[in-house]
Amino acid sequence: MSLANEIVLSAQILSQGIGFGKPVFLNSQNIFEENSYLKKDIDLEILKFEKAIKKSKKEVLEIKKNFANDKLKITFDILNTHLEILSDPVILSEVVNRIKKENKSIHKILKDLLDEYKNRIKDPFFKEKVSDISDVFKRVLRNIKSSKTDLLQSMEKKSIIISDEIIPSDIFETDSSKISAFISVITSYGSHAAIIARSKNIPFVSNIDIEKIKNSNMEDMIVDALQGKVIINPTKKTYEKYKNAPALIESFQTKEKIKLQKDISIFVNISSLKELDKINDKKISGIGLLRTEFLFFKKQIPSQKEQLDVYKKTAKNLKNRPFVIRLFDLGADKNFYNIIQSNKTCFFSTRGAALLLKNQKILKDQITAILKASLFGNIYLLIPFVKDLSEIIQIKKIIKSLQEELKISPSTIKIGSMIETPVAALMVDEIAREVDFLSIGTNDLSRYTFASDTISLKEFHPALEKLFIMIIKAANDFKKPVFLCGEMISDKKIMEKLYSLGMKNFSVSLKNVQLF
Ligand code: PEP
Ligand code: MG
Repeated sequence: MSLANEIVLSAQILSQGIGFGKPVFLNSQNIFEENSYLKKDIDLEILKFEKAIKKSKKEVLEIKKNFANDKLKITFDILNTHLEILSDPVILSEVVNRIKKENKSIHKILKDLLDEYKNRIKDPFFKEKVSDISDVFKRVLRNIKSSKTDLLQSMEKKSIIISDEIIPSDIFETDSSKISAFISVITSYGSHAAIIARSKNIPFVSNIDIEKIKNSNMEDMIVDALQGKVIINPTKKTYEKYKNAPALIESFQTKEKIKLQKDISIFVNISSLKELDKINDKKISGIGLLRTEFLFFKKQIPSQKEQLDVYKKTAKNLKNRPFVIRLFDLGADKNFYNIIQSNKTCFFSTRGAALLLKNQKILKDQITAILKASLFGNIYLLIPFVKDLSEIIQIKKIIKSLQEELKISPSTIKIGSMIETPVAALMVDEIAREVDFLSIGTNDLSRYTFASDTISLKEFHPALEKLFIMIIKAANDFKKPVFLCGEMISDKKIMEKLYSLGMKNFSVSLKNVQLF
């Protein structure tokens, strides 16, 4: 507690939590700005640079060892990138050439090189690589003039680290049990440092007026990374308010959870008749995916009447809740009882929509049953395994002619497309224009994007993230609802990540409804 005046500054939250402690300023002067020009001994300068590179590599390898049990994949990705940069022949020879040619210090040479990369590289993905280069260059410079590392390693418990920019190495370098919070000026929410801080539950705020902090006569501070505040020299009353930080965090997180629960809709994937009896849980907003292939249980193609009975009964049971019926997704690994002649030479090409179009009697019977059931509920007809816009156009034509024949208004159903092949994801704008809704099949989309059947859906790979962003953007641009189904959402953390990307309709297996 302090006798000086309390000052409250607002800040952007990068990692939630509350931290108390004493401030520790890092690189109060910009390491790149030191000793810009000098008369130098070239050989000595090159030797110093090479030694610093060697020392930096050793440090990164050491950090990698210390983080061997860290579950966050990004930690390893960053550290491996740092090692690659430290061994990059293009970068290293460029620095050595400049040391030979230019009358500048290594600090200035690395700064110039970094500025050139910053100006040249505008792509957001490679921008992150530039910040990795910046992080590595800072480490190299510190090893030429070791200062910051010493400070980080000699830090006391309950330290609040303040710097213009917090970089991953700052977090790697410190014993995280000694850090109460991070404060920075320019670090962004998506930066690697922020991701690591979130995974370690270290409060982190940014976008702060650092001059105000520097100019205040500061003893203690509180970082409130729930409300986005930094409190310098808190009064006794303020301390009282924050006394029970864990309870404050818990109540904040409960409120956030309630907000998220209100914002999202949980649907279920149904894959058997038995499951159809369990859809009356209040949490369930409807059926997000009826895998109609289960109707082949009698080892034959289900008749139109058999199908209508199931669809109609379920539609009535759901009342007006959405009921997504997917057309038979047969072929490839879903060639039930060989009803449709399997063709091993075109395992991939004859599945879902393409196979249905080759078996029009099956397709028309199923559409007829769905149209008749559509008079009893809120039905969404979903086209499986779409690989070409023409498949959607042809199926829509068949639906239209059956609607006319049966005299059923087109308004009784909505028509949607599964986005579960990479080609459908890449063509999602054209598809979104053509249909009423989209449904992402995370199982097949990952399988075929990674060309692997063993891909772990628990890891949110950046390639999938890019595809999801494209799909969600197309759905928003064309104002079409988008559902997400498949096994990916058996993991709550991934669900929260997808929510942050704008996903709101999740279709999960019945056993996973309880997660929400
Ligand atoms: C998917 O591919 O994610 C999906 C929902 O469809 P299925 O698992 O039935 O292939
Ligand atoms: Mg699928």
